Amino acid sequence: MAVEDFPRYPLLFGPSPVHRLDRLTEFLGGARVWAKREDCNSGLAYGGNKTRKLEYIVPDILAQGADTLVSIGGHQSNHTRQVAAVAAHLGLKARLIQEKWVDWPDPVNDKVGNILLSRIMGADVRLGSAGFGIGIKDSWQQALEEVRAEGGAPYPIPAGASEHPLGGLGFANWAYEVERQEAEHDVFFDTIVVCSVTGSTQAGMIAGFAGQDRPRRVIGIDASARIDETREQVGRIARHTADLICVRRELRDDEISVLEGWAGDRYGVPVASTLEAIRLTGRLEGMIIDPVYEGKSMAGLIDLVRTGEIGEDSTVLYAHLGGQPALNAYSGAFD
Ligand SMILES: *Cc1c(COP(=O)(O)O)cnc(C)c1O
Repeated sequence: MAVEDFPRYPLLFGPSPVHRLDRLTEFLGGARVWAKREDCNSGLAYGGNKTRKLEYIVPDILAQGADTLVSIGGHQSNHTRQVAAVAAHLGLKARLIQEKWVDWPDPVNDKVGNILLSRIMGADVRLGSAGFGIGIKDSWQQALEEVRAEGGAPYPIPAGASEHPLGGLGFANWAYEVERQEAEHDVFFDTIVVCSVTGSTQAGMIAGFAGQDRPRRVIGIDASARIDETREQVGRIARHTADLICVRRELRDDEISVLEGWAGDRYGVPVASTLEAIRLTGRLEGMIIDPVYEGKSMAGLIDLVRTGEIGEDSTVLYAHLGGQPALNAYSGAFD
């Protein structure tokens, strides 16, 4: 089956916008930089990359007759906010386990931004005290049991929708969307830069592009500060997704490229380069990025273009995956 043969429930406005970042390009003085905007891809609670992944999971939710989506993330999880929005849109309930994944001192961390939006949309938000982790967690399995015990029909969506068997399809489809937009704009993006944490965004892209004729680099920038886990997860999901969409060759190890160096020591905690990237992108382009994910991947892009590791003949596509609501819990970083 090719990616277009899988059932997809539309949640996005259509193809996400692609545009040049001319002032950033000029400032960096190297490769031409463009952006593709998952931060404004949908009318459901500001959208984002998880909404695109969920397009391929909703048909399974509906087929199973579930009544409650059960998912997990940190207090400022973008993913759980997008699950809450999709639940509201479908007329289902959402049970969200939101743990202390980030030791961030802001007193409104569990009150504003993403978690506020989830509460507004009617999700049942349960705060937990466990720390960061991208794997399958006990707290999430316990929540599934609780919903069942209460007589509900839960549908499990793991962190970032990544460990779900269909989690990579949304961004495999993205790769084909990019190919069509390249034809419209008469451009070829030889390099993609994308933030990686739970992995299925980059993994889906790798699988999707692997099925196309023209080779290109998909550079993941780790934002979890646990590079080995991120690499393992991206590689595993990329190979699984490539099998699903019938890519007729094995993925090579050099296609699984996740770089470290911009995450700092901890997931969710911005470092100097993160804050610099956020300010620079805001001041040059009026484009807003967040301190947990996109600020880190943009810091990576800036360095890779400046050092010429992405060469000056390159045209690079920055995948903006969303996440701005979390900024509300990070005012102290910009005092
Ligand atoms: C979840 C998320 C990512 C990371 O995507 P993964 O698929 O988890 O690797 C990056 N940026 C934003 C804004 C996110 O919400």
